[in-house]
Amino acid sequence: MHNDFHHALVVDNELCYGCTHCMMACPTAAIRIDNGKAVIIDERCIDCGECMKACPVDAIFVEQDDFKKIFEYEYRIAIVPAVFLGQFSKKISVKEIVDAIKETGFTHVFLAEESAEVINEVMLNEYDSDRERPLISPFCPAVVRLIQVKFPGMVENIIPVKTPVDSTAMYVKKYMQDKGLPEKRTGIFYVTPCAAKIAALKSIPEDEIVINGVINMDMLYNKVYHIFKTRKGGNTIEDGSFTGISPKVLKWSLTGGEADNMKGRCLAIDEVHNVTKFLERVEDGDIINVDFLELRACDHGCAGGVLMTENRFLTVERIRTKADRIKEDLPEQPIEKYHGHLKANAGISEIEPRSMFKLDEDMEEAYRKMQRIRHLMCFLPAIDCGACGAPNCQSLAEDVVKGKAHLSNCIFIQRSMEKNRKLSNEHAIRLIEKVWGKDRLDKNCNKKGAENETD
Ligand code: SF4
Ligand code: SF4
Repeated sequence: MHNDFHHALVVDNELCYGCTHCMMACPTAAIRIDNGKAVIIDERCIDCGECMKACPVDAIFVEQDDFKKIFEYEYRIAIVPAVFLGQFSKKISVKEIVDAIKETGFTHVFLAEESAEVINEVMLNEYDSDRERPLISPFCPAVVRLIQVKFPGMVENIIPVKTPVDSTAMYVKKYMQDKGLPEKRTGIFYVTPCAAKIAALKSIPEDEIVINGVINMDMLYNKVYHIFKTRKGGNTIEDGSFTGISPKVLKWSLTGGEADNMKGRCLAIDEVHNVTKFLERVEDGDIINVDFLELRACDHGCAGGVLMTENRFLTVERIRTKADRIKEDLPEQPIEKYHGHLKANAGISEIEPRSMFKLDEDMEEAYRKMQRIRHLMCFLPAIDCGACGAPNCQSLAEDVVKGKAHLSNCIFIQRSMEKNRKLSNEHAIRLIEKVWGKDRLDKNCNKKGAENETD
């Protein structure tokens, strides 16, 4: 689990015009420009969605299953994250939102974080293990991938426990079976606020998968929003089954949601660049005596996911308000009967490192390549302009050493080669066209900011 990388983000080549915004925003230098289009390098991408947020023309999108797929099943279950509830005004109750989700076609709705109480217990037990400190939460799949590719020495700090979504899906499956509903006629769909969760779910081997499909949250939001806009009275769809909602569960996916429920010195860090900088300091031994790290790739946790429609600050405020309204003495929830089963099956296999910096399997050869990168950096201008189609000079040097680019992609090197008569003017133009496309040097008054700019 989590060791095979599926990716959920796709570049639409028709829309992409090679502006480099995505390339510059990517925290793992996973994007290059080739022939005027953005190209994502699979082994570097962590599905954080920063590129999608940065694209000015929505040329990067998140793949999803066709919504119609839910109707292949008689019992259609939506597992919805708590942040979905924060997409709507405080005047709309949880019950109304659940009813509207059912009107879109689902027969049952469960909260994704419903099993968070169990997961919390399992994570607290990890304090008795000899696992490296700080313990790191496995909740955010983009962060897990970030650690795998960029901080492989820290994968052992990640607690090998299921995420609440995976555990809740397991509960839902068992709950439905116990109700006598045939497994083949029951479809479980996860409504995701981000690309990383799709990528993580689709990376699970087929024989272990419990979830039958993934629905992007913005799409379900639009359907539910339309229902609220046009509602003319009550609905007749079966009610019930939205259970286990406690303040802890509701706030679990927000920043601090986990850290507030762990022991000792716990820190909650959000936004992928902040997380990267923090992990660099932990790796350098600069930060010590921390027991637990909650790390989230999105700003404000899942409230800042790329598939969220509403403003993340409002989402957080609404969820906190809903959590404050919940009464202390909740009745026993159906999931509680399954706590033993969920706890016994909460573990996952240890997460493997997948260093993107590995230059060669052979240590000596890797060292030689590293020296070569340093040597190439002597010639590159270190201004990280991106004109070579790589996000910075260091990335170009790495690509050259890996045989994936030429040093002459750098426009400064080109000028120098032309000056020393090692490169013809025609060849230099061909190099630019290879990265930026054939028409990039042509006059175009329709482009952004030009005199005839079109929408
Ligand atoms: S999803 Fe994140 S890691 Fe992947 S290409 Fe986009 S910005 Fe880079
Ligand atoms: S940000 Fe620019 S380069 Fe990246 S996908 Fe969008 S249009 Fe293409």
